[in-house]
This record gives sequence, C-alpha cells and structure tokens, in this order.
Amino acid sequence: MGLEPQQQVDLTAANSLALPCRAAQLARCSTLSELRSARHYAVQQRLPLTLLGGATNTLCPPAIDGLVVKIEAPAGDSFSVVEEHSSTVVIEVAAGVSWAQLVTDTVATGLAGLENLALIPGTVGAAPVQNIGAYGVELAERLVELSFYHWQRDSVTTMSAADCQFGYRDSIFKQSLAGRGAIVALRLRLWREPAAHYRSDYPPLAAALAGSELSAAAIAAAVTAIRQSKLPDPAQLPNAGSFFKNPLLPSSQFNALLAAYPVLPHYPAGRPGWHKLPAAWLIEQCGLKGWQRGALATHHRQPLVIVNRGGASLAELLAFADDIRAAVAAKFAVDLEIEPQPCRAAALGGIGDAV
Ligand SMILES: Cc1cc2nc3c(=O)[nH]c(=O)nc-3n(C[C@H](O)[C@H](O)[C@H](O)COP(=O)(O)OP(=O)(O)OC[C@H]3O[C@@H](n4cnc5c(N)ncnc54)[C@H](O)[C@@H]3O)c2cc1C
Repeated sequence: MGLEPQQQVDLTAANSLALPCRAAQLARCSTLSELRSARHYAVQQRLPLTLLGGATNTLCPPAIDGLVVKIEAPAGDSFSVVEEHSSTVVIEVAAGVSWAQLVTDTVATGLAGLENLALIPGTVGAAPVQNIGAYGVELAERLVELSFYHWQRDSVTTMSAADCQFGYRDSIFKQSLAGRGAIVALRLRLWREPAAHYRSDYPPLAAALAGSELSAAAIAAAVTAIRQSKLPDPAQLPNAGSFFKNPLLPSSQFNALLAAYPVLPHYPAGRPGWHKLPAAWLIEQCGLKGWQRGALATHHRQPLVIVNRGGASLAELLAFADDIRAAVAAKFAVDLEIEPQPCRAAALGGIGDAV
C-alpha cells in the first residue's frame, strides 16, 4: 500500500524546545520498507524530505515544507542479542527505539556498557549523529557497526565505528553524510555482568558512588539522580540539553587564556595538544547564568541549557544564543558552537539514480 502522510501536522509539542513548527506532511516510519516508501513518495511528488528522530536536538523552523519523516520504534522488544561470546554480547537495536529505554532494558537484563548514558533523550538512530556522550562514555566506544540507508542510492550499507569518523559530539553524519541517509539499526558490544569495565571515574559520578559496590544498575541510578538534580526535564521546561558544545582549544590559545584566568577549569580533549573548556563556566563568568529575555533563559543551575518558558520562536532563540556567543567571544576570544542541528532537507536524487 502507498504512503499516506498526515497533512499539516503541528510539531510544537513534538520538539523538545517547543519551538512553534508545522510540517506540511508527516510520515511515521519504523521499518526500512516504510523509509523506502517515504523516499519513493517524496521523489515522485518532488518534495523535500526532512528526517527527525525524537527532535530533542533539533532547531525546528515555523514551517517545514514537503515531507517530514519521523523515525519511531517498531513494536516488540527494544533490542535483540545477535552474537554471544564468553563475557560479551553484541545486540542489535532499531533506530526508532528510545535511547533511554534501551539503557533501562539492557541494564535490567544484566548487560553493562550503556549505564553512563542513562536518561539521554532521543532515539537510538540519532545517537551516532553527534556521538552522544555523558559521564565519561561516548557511543563510539560501544558501537560495532550500523546500517545506513542511503537516500540517493536507495540501498543499505554497513558502516564500522571507524567509518563513522566519530569525534567529540561529531561524526560523518554531521559532515559529508549530513542529509544523505538514515541510520536504520545499530549493533553494540556490551558486557555480561559482573563486568570488568565499569566507568565511574568522572568526578561527580565517583563522588555519588563512593563506598557503593559497582554495577550497571548502581551507575545508571547515580547518573539518573545527578541528571535529574541539575538538568531541566523538557516535558516541564522545554530545552535541547546543552545548547553549545564545550570548546576545544589548541595549546597556544589555551595557555594564553590560562595565564589570564588561572582558575580556568579544563579537561583533556582526547587529542594531543588540545584542551576542552566547560562552556557553562565561560557563560557563567559573563554573568549570563540564569539570564532571561522574553520567554528564553539560560537555566539557573546549568547555563549551558537554554530553556523556552513558552512561545519563543526559532529566530528569537538564535538571537538569544548569538548574544551569549558574542559575550563569550568578547571576554575570552572563544567561539561557542551551537550543538542542536538545523532542520535540513535530504539529498534524495531521482528514483533509480546511481551515485
Ligand atoms: C534534556 C536533554 C539532555 C541531553 N543530554 C545529552 C547528553 O548528556 N549527551 C548528549 O550527547 N546529548 C544530549 N542531549 C541531546 C540529544 O538527546 C541527543 O543529541 C540525541 O541523540 C538526539 O536524538 P533525537 O532522536 O531527538 O534526534 P533529533 O533531534 O530528531 O535529530 C538530531 C539530528 O540527527 C538526525 N537524525 C535523527 N535520526 C536519524 C537517523 N536515524 N539517521 C540519521 N540521522 C538522524 C536529524 O536529521 C538531526 O539532524 C540532551 C538533550 C536533552 C533535551
């Protein structure tokens, strides 16, 4: 049966920043064959196609022309075990599954590896796009491979973790493959408990876990409690999590800044000669923690999070963010990069086109 998209769908409540947004047409897809139908429909009708997961890291404009494809969870279990080894397993997960649900389900099944990434909103398929990370772990460390449906070629390829060119909140899906296709499934390597590889050295996590016996469940519970104590719940106070990436500076720039601000907090950047700074500290030093204008504010506990207290538009949000960037650039000569992604029309090509 052909695709029958919904017409004129209000997505304001469906994006975590609650930006007013209307999709001309919307198709909800949970399988590869549904994605293929959506692509076919968009090509035949000559419509732009925009891909969304949970829209928790997206800057939605007032109107999205053409067809919005929203990837949703298929019915059934959140994951299946596809390989078993003595101490590890490889699981396969469909793109539309909720990431937070996957973490809950793997931990409840006695599998370790995802517990540090508890409570991150959004879908499994979007997780590799910005290489989600929290509390000392990044998705890149757990990914074995993923399946990528290329819009223009109308075919699925398998990509290894190395193929994904992961970096800090970055991957090939934000670079040369941006708008080129949809991630349809991930395969992740996890450990059977008790695991030898718990990661609990991230300072706030280490403090929360001091004295307790380590397990995936204990770590997930500690991460969940820390996150709930400092991050606003988008259902109550719309936001997209961190609005800016933590800037990475080369040693020359970092050393000059450290000389001027000896208390400057900093972390290893994961590559020699580079240092990571907490953007939240830079924003706070500019006097912008809890700063409000109209419906927008930086959160009073975590200034890296911009909250929409009701009715702000994308234009107002970008102007607010620009003023924060300008203040940080003026005081520290550091450029803050916006983390959430703009809505982008996919590169579809014609039916049967080869690339
Ligand atoms: C309260 C809060 C806390 C957060 N905390 C963290 C955190 O700790 N660490 C962290 O890394 N992030 C965090 N985030 C950001 C967000 O949760 C992640 O970026 C998440 O992976 C986004 O998933 P999504 O399904 O909502 O993606 P969307 O917002 O729907 O999409 C994001 C981008 O990915 C693309 N995309 C979506 N699905 C696919 C797919 N299947 N294939 C290819 N491209 C796709 C979209 O086109 C878009 O460009 C947080 C967000 C919120 C609101």
